[in-house]
Amino acid sequence: MFCEATTLYIEIYIMAKIREIERRRTFAIIAHPDAGKTTLTEKFLLFGGQIQVAGAVKSNKIKKTATSDWMEIEKQRGISVTTSVMEFDYKDFKVNILDTPGHQDFVEDTFRTLTAVDSVIIVVDGARGVETQTRKLMEVCRMRKTPVIIFVNKMDREGRDPFDLLDELEEELQIGVRPLSWPIDQGARFRGVYNIYEDKLDLYQPSKQVVTEKVEVRVDSDELLNYIEEGQAQQLREDLELVGGVYPDFNREEYLNAEMAPVFFGSALTNFGVKELLDCFVEIAPSPLPTKAEERLVKPEEPKFTGFVFKITANIDPNHRSCVAFCKICSGKFERNAPYYHVRHDKTMRFSSPTQFMAQRKTTVEEAWAGDIIGLPDNGTFKIGDTLTEGEKLHFKGLPSFSPEMFKYIENADPMKQKQLAKGVEQLMDEGVAQLFVNQFNGRKIIGTVGQLQFEVIQYRLQNEYNASCRWEPVRLYKACWIESDSKEALDEFKKRKYQFMAKDREGRDVFLADSSYMLQMAQSDFKEIKFHFTSEF
Ligand code: GDP
Repeated sequence: MFCEATTLYIEIYIMAKIREIERRRTFAIIAHPDAGKTTLTEKFLLFGGQIQVAGAVKSNKIKKTATSDWMEIEKQRGISVTTSVMEFDYKDFKVNILDTPGHQDFVEDTFRTLTAVDSVIIVVDGARGVETQTRKLMEVCRMRKTPVIIFVNKMDREGRDPFDLLDELEEELQIGVRPLSWPIDQGARFRGVYNIYEDKLDLYQPSKQVVTEKVEVRVDSDELLNYIEEGQAQQLREDLELVGGVYPDFNREEYLNAEMAPVFFGSALTNFGVKELLDCFVEIAPSPLPTKAEERLVKPEEPKFTGFVFKITANIDPNHRSCVAFCKICSGKFERNAPYYHVRHDKTMRFSSPTQFMAQRKTTVEEAWAGDIIGLPDNGTFKIGDTLTEGEKLHFKGLPSFSPEMFKYIENADPMKQKQLAKGVEQLMDEGVAQLFVNQFNGRKIIGTVGQLQFEVIQYRLQNEYNASCRWEPVRLYKACWIESDSKEALDEFKKRKYQFMAKDREGRDVFLADSSYMLQMAQSDFKEIKFHFTSEF
């Protein structure tokens, strides 16, 4: 009897757990700057009931600068430096949105965020079409086989013909496309979108501020003409017929296998097409997927908690010098104050104040499930890629570091603050702000970044958070590449011959600093036994 009750209890528990995991949708919105990512995120929060008036997300960003000075950089340049996480319930689903910086100098930050999501929404500006960042980010999605939905935004502006845009998306992003909503006219005459997925038309009053009442009309009804002009209705019917003829039917498997991207049209600013996108997204987007660890594949429904840190952000509040480590839960259930194993430190830790993120506030979380992102207070305990488990020695595979493209010597500008500088640099590197190499010949430290802006961020943050000042000095470098060889003799010989150009990264691996592409080519042709790698994992 007891046994039966226990079994029943376990079954109920397992079913509840599976339900919790299946209702989660963890994704990122990515875009070229200005395409409308922030606006769309905000509209999602509006529909999710997280905020009542649009404008809150932006103004929140600016308000934060009052408590966090280094974000002044973000304000001044109008870019999103940090990746924020926002969660809300929508219908029966729990939606976790990971925001990403659009600015190209922070592209590595975005790459790392993509390791923590199960799918992606790409926002494209309807007038500009596919832009550089869109292309780059799509490459990473393709590499990781991340399912992608495309939202063509700003249809309230004069843009291109939707069919031309679809061709461009297909060609430039190298993925099959399937429109699931369709714009009714555009620019000043834009009237809304037809929901192809549900085969109906919802019309809203355009509003920048709040969700307004909708009217629901069928495309073949005469009532349609009460809302849109006859010519527009005619055009819509023709377009839909053409869409049905040209594009294959929507196939969820193809979408989940990242072979085909559903496309939605709309205008985030005026709320058109956003609900259609969100409704369909929660239906078709994947629930948490298995995560690859070096040792094995970890499934979300496994009973034991596992997770990894994909992002560390600096002190939101300068009075408390702590950071937040963002941890993606890969399996099981996380509980506040439970003992978890920090694999790299080989140490058990408890977290008394883990946080989750609503639109504008942080709340302490008692439990969280696979697919969720939790914020763990961090005083230098975490590094990007760190794994937490219930005891198993697992190492989740993240994205490798890419060979940086800009280099500068970092020098101490205040002899009294040597220690502060060393600590600051260490922690910023742990956060993944940039990469540090130590030249083996002269012992000088070189910082490598993907963009100029990172040097400014580092200098600013060293000053403001660590009370240390640094000075940059030029170093003529073209590429830093990781080297290895099956032959120890060849490796030793190479290092001896190139001793002036050899450095170590923070893990103590050998790095060759080529000062020109010619030098790199020569080295590659002279030393056939040496392998030159442009990412840190090989
Ligand atoms: P992000 O850089 O991708 O986050 O872009 P934002 O959401 O900040 O939007 C960039 C600019 O485009 C802002 O001025 C928005 O008001 C504007 N914008 C966003 N969506 C739309 C839209 O649907 N229509 C129009 N006309 N403007 C939009």
